Amino acid sequence: MARMSRPLDFEPLLQRAFSIALDYLATAGERPVAPAGAGSAADASVRDAVLAQLPDGPSDPVEVVAQMAAELDPGLVATVGPRYFGFVIGGVQPAALAAEWLAATWDQNVAFDVMSPALARVEEVAGAWLLDLLGLPPHCSFGFVTGATMANWTGLAAARHELLARRGWDVEARGLAGAPPLRVVAGEGRHSTIDLVVRYLGLGTDSLTLVPADDQGRLDVSGLRSQLAGEPESATIVCAQAGNVNSGAVDDIAAICDVAHEADAWVHVDGAVGAWLATVPGRREALAGWDGADSWATDAHKGLNVAYDCGYVACAHADAHRAACVMLAPYLPVESSSRHGSFWVPDSSRRGRALGVYTVLRQLGRDGVADMTERLCRLAELFGEALGELANVQVINDVVANQVLVRFADSDEVTKAVVAQVQRGGVCWMGATRWRGRTAMRISVSNWSTNEDDVRRSVAAIALALAETG
Ligand SMILES: *Cc1c(COP(=O)(O)O)cnc(C)c1O
Repeated sequence: MARMSRPLDFEPLLQRAFSIALDYLATAGERPVAPAGAGSAADASVRDAVLAQLPDGPSDPVEVVAQMAAELDPGLVATVGPRYFGFVIGGVQPAALAAEWLAATWDQNVAFDVMSPALARVEEVAGAWLLDLLGLPPHCSFGFVTGATMANWTGLAAARHELLARRGWDVEARGLAGAPPLRVVAGEGRHSTIDLVVRYLGLGTDSLTLVPADDQGRLDVSGLRSQLAGEPESATIVCAQAGNVNSGAVDDIAAICDVAHEADAWVHVDGAVGAWLATVPGRREALAGWDGADSWATDAHKGLNVAYDCGYVACAHADAHRAACVMLAPYLPVESSSRHGSFWVPDSSRRGRALGVYTVLRQLGRDGVADMTERLCRLAELFGEALGELANVQVINDVVANQVLVRFADSDEVTKAVVAQVQRGGVCWMGATRWRGRTAMRISVSNWSTNEDDVRRSVAAIALALAETG
């Protein structure tokens, strides 16, 4: 009896959640992309709506779920819709969303093989498929993490292990006090998570040496060469970048690898944005030579459009990678030759994060991923062309990926005002950034469902905002 009733307990709840989800997806493309005044007024209205008092006892779960969804609705940002261009926020592929529902239903802990042989296998396959798709060496180790931040962490943790081991220092046992000096060299255009990771790894931001970047944010290779020549004895991690978070520009990774490896440095590539260019035959030239690096990070929740959160790290030095992350304990089943997902990431317990990747890759195939990536880049180009035709609008980056930077009336004030006005308008959403000392609007085309009409509607909304502001 009790056993029979359990699915029935779930059914009305899941039916209700299902119909709320379908309604949301059906209207996400037409609701105001962000709540008016996100971050201030809307926050206040959501704060008022959301139940703030912890209830004393239980109540009907179907009602709780329905009320909760209704209360949260005004504060949701329609990032699954086709006209959200803020930050670098991927949409969610339908197959990825379905996979996510099942992953939540199965509720597997994918730390050790024995906890879920099915999802351990999925992770193994998805990880190998990504190596293939991204043009990375097939012998690389890999891990699925929350995002590129932790993928950068993992790559640099492996580097820290390896470079110090080469100098006779076991950092896992001895820590960093008294260790041979270790420095990190990165371009001025690096993502700020590199600074964060250097802190998390106990190196501190003082260990970070910055090399100038060019007008697109690419690391200057001759600057790198002189940095490395200046301190030939130092253990050095060089952070290259495939896809600047503002401009989308890709470093000259082949040249960086040559110069860095000449100096026995480790090359880590932050490919959170740009790694996906490797999937397109006509665009992968931008990443030429990147398979010669030592570790790589990317975000499947960006270019691959799986649900949040899903980052990916790959490493050409499996032993160092494992040594940096492995955890052993008497009760843990490690004697089998299986791959244990948690040995390659900083987490122990972890959700079935690779399932979305596996499902999207299986459903889209190589060509489908290439088409999506190409389309995002083409739509970014269309944004650049259409905006460039407007008076008082200046596209200030080379549009080489899915990122566009725009300035209005060559003025920080006007640009800020246009961004704010566009955000208020609700047709589309893009944020502002500082680029080479000036304010710019940042457009990131990162959602599979965006089409040319969405770009044209958004360009019209921007033109209107400029007219209203100027
Ligand atoms: C987004 C991004 C990161 C951080 O990724 P998270 O998914 O937020 O952890 C790191 N580097 C670059 C270049 C990025 O675009």
